[in-house]
Amino acid sequence: MSSALQKTQPGSNDPILTFGASTVFIGRNGGKFPYGNSVLVQGSEEAVIIDPSKSLKSHVDQLPKIDRILLSHCHQDHVAGVHQFPEASCHAHEKEVYAIQSMDGICELHGVPADERAEFESDVVKHFSFTPRLDTVGYKDGDIFDLGGGVTIEVIYTPGHTHGHSCLLVRGEHRKDDLLFLADIELSGFGPYYGGVNSSLEQFDQSLDLVRSIDVPWFCTFHHLGVLDKEAFLKRSAQYQGMIGYREKKLLDYMATPRTIDQAVQHRIIYRKSDVGASNDRSEHWMLTQHVARMLKSEQLKEVEPGFYQAC
Ligand SMILES: [Zn+2]
Repeated sequence: MSSALQKTQPGSNDPILTFGASTVFIGRNGGKFPYGNSVLVQGSEEAVIIDPSKSLKSHVDQLPKIDRILLSHCHQDHVAGVHQFPEASCHAHEKEVYAIQSMDGICELHGVPADERAEFESDVVKHFSFTPRLDTVGYKDGDIFDLGGGVTIEVIYTPGHTHGHSCLLVRGEHRKDDLLFLADIELSGFGPYYGGVNSSLEQFDQSLDLVRSIDVPWFCTFHHLGVLDKEAFLKRSAQYQGMIGYREKKLLDYMATPRTIDQAVQHRIIYRKSDVGASNDRSEHWMLTQHVARMLKSEQLKEVEPGFYQAC
């Protein structure tokens, strides 16, 4: 990361990286959930914060006056710092604005069942300071925020993780500092997460093709990795996208004899066997349901009797 200016705040070990107009605040524990990496973008007219995380709290005193908050999507960890900027306008993809406007909205986005609702509500308030913003404005693919002085942020709509998930492309005075904020295209070893009620495997796969075609020198994830140069991004994103095929291969092996999706969920194809619990079961179920549909279409699987699938 030779062209990045790196420093840390006194009393904190969390790095702060600067790329021209962008400043990346690496989250606590390296941006591991529930924390995350937030980006401050400063033009001559405006300052914008992208995905204010829970750990941004320790940097608030260092920030300039924030004019806008841009949310890549509205999962609880990405909106945890919204309450710190009540004066700033708040923006999210038009398909996901509802999720930051009310408690009902964030519960709907997270697919919280009725019997888990009280616990979820208490958790998002206590641990993520969830504060609804009824005045949130919707953005759409291709919208450009002009911050002045040649600094812009362009919306690159990348659904799949959620139905409103968007990457944000920061361009400034010098091309060498341009940065694509990947949000929860997080490039982890686990692979893409499309296990939420508003997630889509098909769209995630297409979004990965799209971001891999964008030619910028820097890429930033919300969790784990932080900032990568283009070479590292292309390598990691190929491995990450490859997890989709790896999961399908595992499923095909498991379905060498006829099995139901419920049996595959209990067996675990995507999560580890030790990842127990109703929420992991639900995610595994939805992810496998999408894989089965895709593999029926490509004739890798066939339905041998109602609800039982077998490799062709
Ligand atoms: Zn997310």
